[in-house]
Amino acid sequence: MAQEKSQVRSRAQSYDVVVVGAGFSGLYMLHRLRQAGETVRVFEAGTSVGGTWFWNRYPGARVDIESQEYAYSFSPELDEEWKWTERYAAQPELLAYLNHVADRFDLRPDIQLETRVTSAVWDDAARRWTVTTNRGDQVSARHVVMATGCLSTPKEDAELPGSDSFKGPSWHTGRWPEEGVDFTGMRVGVIGTGSSAIQAIPQIAAQAAHVTVFQRTPNFSVPAHNGPVDPAVVADWAANRAQYRKEARETGFGIRYIGASETPALSVSEAARAAEYEERWRYGGFALLGAYADLVMDPAANATAAEFVRGKIAEIVKDPTVAEKLAPKTYPIGAKRICVDTGYYATFNRDNVSLVDLTEEPIERVTPAGVKTSAREYEVDAIVYAIGFDAMTGALDKIDIRGKGGVRLKDAWAAGPGTYLGLLVAGFPNLFLVTGPGSPSVLCNMAVAIEQHVEWISDCIAWMSARQAGSIEATAAAQDDWVAHVNEVADSTIFPLANSWYLGANVPGKPRVFMPYIGGFPVYRDKCNEVAAAGYDGCVVTA
Ligand code: NAP
Repeated sequence: MAQEKSQVRSRAQSYDVVVVGAGFSGLYMLHRLRQAGETVRVFEAGTSVGGTWFWNRYPGARVDIESQEYAYSFSPELDEEWKWTERYAAQPELLAYLNHVADRFDLRPDIQLETRVTSAVWDDAARRWTVTTNRGDQVSARHVVMATGCLSTPKEDAELPGSDSFKGPSWHTGRWPEEGVDFTGMRVGVIGTGSSAIQAIPQIAAQAAHVTVFQRTPNFSVPAHNGPVDPAVVADWAANRAQYRKEARETGFGIRYIGASETPALSVSEAARAAEYEERWRYGGFALLGAYADLVMDPAANATAAEFVRGKIAEIVKDPTVAEKLAPKTYPIGAKRICVDTGYYATFNRDNVSLVDLTEEPIERVTPAGVKTSAREYEVDAIVYAIGFDAMTGALDKIDIRGKGGVRLKDAWAAGPGTYLGLLVAGFPNLFLVTGPGSPSVLCNMAVAIEQHVEWISDCIAWMSARQAGSIEATAAAQDDWVAHVNEVADSTIFPLANSWYLGANVPGKPRVFMPYIGGFPVYRDKCNEVAAAGYDGCVVTA
């Protein structure tokens, strides 16, 4: 780390672009902008690059999209030289990959680590942003790119009353200590049963004396069937990589391995459906959701897939009462992101794992000795808060971003985030969001979504530089139309039927607005390209 810090190239006070964040988005953003001849400073809060894969190092953390697809595609040489070892890469390998990218493209000199951006203020007369950090930097930039991530601001454990009174150690999965945690001999309470918990619980249970899982809402989870990468897959990808990447970009979710069908679920017999689901369950991961074209559109079609997974839970979990509690029944499958697990349901067959159903006995408070529900107190030695994130807007809300007239972004978004294409915000000139609300982002393979955004943004900045344009800003009308479209498309699907973080429903008091764009990656990409080709239609560009 010390070596990384010492590589910072200069402390100039003026840049063409400031990029906030050095994860998947920020690294490629820096590379592209530098190639375009722009001067760039990247600020990153972590002690290393890596973003999500730097912070989320809880036991069992791994990607839920097959490694071959969850990688940059912009450099064929990078693709050829990097060899994934597992079908679904684990966090250390993903972090190593991103560090490799930083080295391979000599990115570190322009990245300032351990530095959190605290404010960004637009000066309309100068047509520039002033960016300040918690380390006392104050720099000027023509453009600011927020590469701050969709799931990078953990929810505070203070949401649970009494959390500060707990006598033992506690950790949020999204802020896991770099040195790791040894659970040997501990009684551990895990609060939450989302993707993070579902990956962590089997690993913690294998080590701890006892694990008590506090479940508010059960999740649908599909086995990953993880393992070493099959050499035949590696060879196949090596021979067909460009084609496969192209195919991924033509699917709605930007994921080739889903194997999206065009057949409606109810157009085939029950036996045919059962066979199809079984085959996809055996394949693992998100493939299940690709079984039929209408699973995320038609509640009746969706119910067939949900019932299939509930049947699997009942088969795996030996105690029927526990199985029943683990089976989601209150929302459609896929309306919350499906979890991809390794041995999650079977973990509840272990003697040292117990499940507390918070719908029957809600948590009243965390106590010095453990967790007290309405029924009793559960004594634990350590607590894992797997309670999720203030998604999509949380990281932006934490920065004091002020646009034209000193308006704060947080205030402009008080009723929900408004963007044009998830990329630009009316009233905030020269501010770009990578995978912002209103773009496919988390409903797409993030590697695909990020590359498309980074390329659109760098092309836009290059276009402006070539014309010596002072600023670009979405019009309020174009933004309003886009937000209406995002909502209209979401309302035609099953997605708004769950209290998910897609809607902000997981954060008390957050406005309920469906944030990602569910119209499908290719449709969205084509729209972005049309906007650019028309000289940034829907935007005002000033000299
Ligand atoms: P999450 O999906 O939001 O899950 C948080 C869990 O904590 C939920 O079970 C939630 O219950 C519970 N919870 C939240 N606040 C609570 C409270 N006050 N009291 C009791 N329970 C509470 O968060 P996550 O598991 O960190 O995952 C977030 C997203 O990150 C995923 O959807 C995925 O996109 C991504 N992720 C991906 C992977 C991967 O496989 N690559 C791994 C981890 C995360 P409710 O459902 O009732 O709110």
